[in-house]
Amino acid sequence: MQVPICGFDAKNAILCPQCEAKLEAGQLTKADVDASIKIAKLAKTNSEIDKFTLFSCREVAGEFVLYLAKSDIETIRKSRTLYRTLQGEFPGKIWIVESEANDRKFIEDLFFPTKILSINVVWVPGGIQKTKIIVSGKWTSRFPIDVNKVTNIVKQLRELDVVIEFEEGQRR
Ligand SMILES: [Zn+2]
Repeated sequence: MQVPICGFDAKNAILCPQCEAKLEAGQLTKADVDASIKIAKLAKTNSEIDKFTLFSCREVAGEFVLYLAKSDIETIRKSRTLYRTLQGEFPGKIWIVESEANDRKFIEDLFFPTKILSINVVWVPGGIQKTKIIVSGKWTSRFPIDVNKVTNIVKQLRELDVVIEFEEGQRR
């Protein structure tokens, strides 16, 4: 297991002076610290989570974006139980994204398992640049992903203004 704070700190739910200094300097966030402790707690009894590499965690409006290694994401996507175990530790919805991803990959991860047809830069009146995302399929009221939350997360963490449209018909 690798987390943004020391393994020892995570396992004992404390911060050493070095990690404390990083937190004060803003190199680590409170969400990084909290998520590290949660992952370490789960890793004690879950051998798959014990192999995870958590790069960071960002809190956006009470929800948590977890930046994990690509192989960890593949493991989570194969196991609904594992996903639920992870989700169960957090007080808000978790979003699993690959660390060091480009904007497109970041957006695709947020929408997983829904496919994205295209992501293009468009200009809207007033010369404002926006990123237009076209989601595959048709929007229905049962669409499982809250597009307003995706819009907010992308704005907060990637500084992109996105417009989300569906392949067939628009959401209302
Ligand atoms: Zn430490």
